[in-house]
Amino acid sequence: MKIVPAFHTDTDPEDPVYHDQAECPYGKEIKRNGNARPGTAGRRRCDWCSGNR
Ligand SMILES: [Zn+2]
Repeated sequence: MKIVPAFHTDTDPEDPVYHDQAECPYGKEIKRNGNARPGTAGRRRCDWCSGNR
């Protein structure tokens, strides 16, 4: 598991989470789309990043 600095996107108001795993497929999509914002924004950790997958 590779930990990266927490990031999130503001394009997911239905499911506000943040990511901190380099391999997270949701996080990767955010990075790919160029929508990553730094920090957690007070959100809960993404299920995938929490290991619930
Ligand atoms: Zn994630």
